[in-house]
Amino acid sequence: MRRVGVLALQGDVPEHRRALEGVVPARDVKFVRSEADLGAVDALFLPGGESTTIARLLEATGIWRALRHRLAEGFPVLATCAGLILLSRTLEPSPSGRDPPTLGVLDVRVRRNDYGRQRESFEAPVRVEGLRGAEYPGVFIRAPRILEVGAGAEPFAFRGTEIVGVRAGPVWGLTFHPELSGDPRLHHAFLEAVWGQKPAKPQRSKTTVPTTKATPRARAQR
Ligand code: GLN
Repeated sequence: MRRVGVLALQGDVPEHRRALEGVVPARDVKFVRSEADLGAVDALFLPGGESTTIARLLEATGIWRALRHRLAEGFPVLATCAGLILLSRTLEPSPSGRDPPTLGVLDVRVRRNDYGRQRESFEAPVRVEGLRGAEYPGVFIRAPRILEVGAGAEPFAFRGTEIVGVRAGPVWGLTFHPELSGDPRLHHAFLEAVWGQKPAKPQRSKTTVPTTKATPRARAQR
């Protein structure tokens, strides 16, 4: 039995759990708050939130170092927004000068908050390679912008001509929030791709995935 972790230090944590409960049995979804928790999961979701806060807590808990080791061994991670910032190779210095350290495993250069402030957050359709059906409802909240993609990363999600998602093997990074859209296709596609088979179906079909829009609480946390 394989377990899915959600890094649960700050940010969109319950939202990712809810989205995952539409994809795998609830008992297989674990919150990761320590090195030991990280060792007990077979894939990890890095939520959106505040990247400087998440980085500080990752270091304080020792998860940073452990995650770096696991990433070097091919550990699957799907990172959204602040999570993408933390995985990026290069961070363009932000005007505030307050930028987190990064793990450097996704070959992209990004700039934080590049679409503007909280009130400039928006929703827009995203074309995701390999997803069947309608375009994916992208929720962008104080999102980073991908300025450059290096040879080590493959763009696979686009808003118009702009790249909003990249992957490098089992490491996927998105500037938008699939956990806030009510559409489980990306969580499902990620686990299917990295585990090489369809994830186990939840036992009950009833899910509590929010239907649209970020909750006020989720929006307020950034
Ligand atoms: N603006 C946040 C940061 O720089 C990221 C926003 C998000 O995760 N929605 O960390």
